[in-house]
Amino acid sequence: MRGTSMSETYDVVVAGSGAAGLTAALAAAVSGARTLVIESASEIGGTSALSGGRVWLPANGTPENAGDSDELADRYLDQVFDTRYEAMIRTFVREARVMGAFVEKHSPHRFVVCPNYPDYHQDYPGATRGGRCFDVAPVDLNELVPQARSVRQPPGYSPITHAEWERWRYPAAIDHDLLAARMAQGIRTGGLGLVAALLDGAVRAGATVRTGTALTGVLTGVLAGGGAVTGVRVRTGDGERTIGASSVVLATGAFDAADELRHRLLPAGLGVSASAPSDTGIALTVADELGLPVDNLPEGWWMPMARPEGDLVDGVPYPRGLVRERGVPRQIVVNRQGRRFVDEAVPYNEFGKAMHRLEPGDEAYLIFDEGFRERYPLPGLTPDGPLPGHIVAGEDLATLAGRIGVDPDGLAATVERWNGFCAEGVDHDFRRGGNAYDDYYGDPWQEGNHCLGPIDRAPYYAMRVYSGVIGSKGGPVTDTAGRALTREGSPLPGLYAAGNAAAFWTRDGYPGPGATLAVGMTFGYLAGLDAAR
Ligand SMILES: Cc1cc2nc3c(=O)[nH]c(=O)nc-3n(C[C@H](O)[C@H](O)[C@H](O)COP(=O)(O)OP(=O)(O)OC[C@H]3O[C@@H](n4cnc5c(N)ncnc54)[C@H](O)[C@@H]3O)c2cc1C
Repeated sequence: MRGTSMSETYDVVVAGSGAAGLTAALAAAVSGARTLVIESASEIGGTSALSGGRVWLPANGTPENAGDSDELADRYLDQVFDTRYEAMIRTFVREARVMGAFVEKHSPHRFVVCPNYPDYHQDYPGATRGGRCFDVAPVDLNELVPQARSVRQPPGYSPITHAEWERWRYPAAIDHDLLAARMAQGIRTGGLGLVAALLDGAVRAGATVRTGTALTGVLTGVLAGGGAVTGVRVRTGDGERTIGASSVVLATGAFDAADELRHRLLPAGLGVSASAPSDTGIALTVADELGLPVDNLPEGWWMPMARPEGDLVDGVPYPRGLVRERGVPRQIVVNRQGRRFVDEAVPYNEFGKAMHRLEPGDEAYLIFDEGFRERYPLPGLTPDGPLPGHIVAGEDLATLAGRIGVDPDGLAATVERWNGFCAEGVDHDFRRGGNAYDDYYGDPWQEGNHCLGPIDRAPYYAMRVYSGVIGSKGGPVTDTAGRALTREGSPLPGLYAAGNAAAFWTRDGYPGPGATLAVGMTFGYLAGLDAAR
């Protein structure tokens, strides 16, 4: 696409207002660049605002992370990510904490270390049992720029901190009055809080953030043979127009909210997408139009999901990730033969991969009993309220199996075997509860193995578990400064990509809680700095 006359001009245009885009905008604006963020949706924040907001920063120098080092983190990540892109791994390890310090210096965001939150692969050398993941300190919307009130809010949102969750865990202990008061006062945590604080920093540093403005193409001139970026084409409610820019950062998120792309490019992830509905893959279109290489298209950040009725984002049904529910006692997940197929408590990315290995057409169900219902949370379920439509009950296991189309004999045998493991305290099939990660999501107040507990109190319940994705990982190939590369391997002058729009080097790996935001923010930061030069 060739540019002609521009209606307005910026040094840096960032497409996408998620964590990657806003960190890029913050870095560019603080560096003195005239910076515009364009966001296609009517609200700010994309999937980042719908997320937990945890950020994984290895070798971060906090006392809770003592003993960690660049070398240890390198060693760990070499087993998780794609070592063909070793330079990206090394850069991430060394720049993630620098990005974190920059964000804290130039925005109201404050990272709160999670000392007990383990990495996802406890069996890999270099894994830690805590101290690499950071939560979001509560932010007060009243103290932020007015646009912070336009940040997306996920369905069922509650402004709880990670430390509070660790303390309270289950519905009976949650201080609902405190959380309601925070909501009313404008105090926010999680991804919403992270995005609001990043937005505040970027706007105060001089960036302009425009919603309802969709990138439709990147304009290039005729410099350097391959062309250099001259601006963007955008679509607003008033039609299409061009905006001039020396640099463009593609931070438009994943592509999996576009059904056609998800079905075509993510064969393993045919299930459901929890990306913001506006994450529809414009970065792939731009790469295609400019003839740029893309990589890692079939991979995603995998997550098993529930589909509670009535949860909507942008008017579209929105699933809920199942992270904590799979670690507690009194539940298992079975396939249609009534058989378990994985340690239910594994990190969600690994659970997702186990779901991909199910036979085509097979289905998965979380099976639990009345004891689970009384104590543990599940989306849409209360101990004594009406049963939501996505959960089925049966007075006995055979009835339940019949209602969900699961083999009753298989289910009966599996539950009997499971209850035997619970009596013994060891899951001989999958070793559930046998490592620090599993244990973290177990019930800490239960004696013995925190993840095991029998399914023996009627009535029994089942909830369908869907294979899902919280973001695709394929996009334009970049270098360690976030610069988009041409087929010849040289940077296309002025073009950058960050976040899920460009997360090609992460392969199928997920090292620990907060890694997706950390990768996006780190390379967004580096792209923003470079773009402003
Ligand atoms: C429920 C849930 C919880 C999660 N929790 C965590 C967590 O705690 N920690 C973690 O690390 N990860 C978490 N994730 C994953 C994480 O949220 C994503 O990987 C991350 O937000 C991606 O950030 P991004 O900036 O690349 O994209 P996004 O945040 O999705 O931002 C992309 C933005 O680009 C906009 N856009 C798209 N197309 C255009 C266009 N044509 N023009 C202009 N704008 C456009 C979109 O509207 C969107 O606002 C979670 C995900 C989910 C669903």
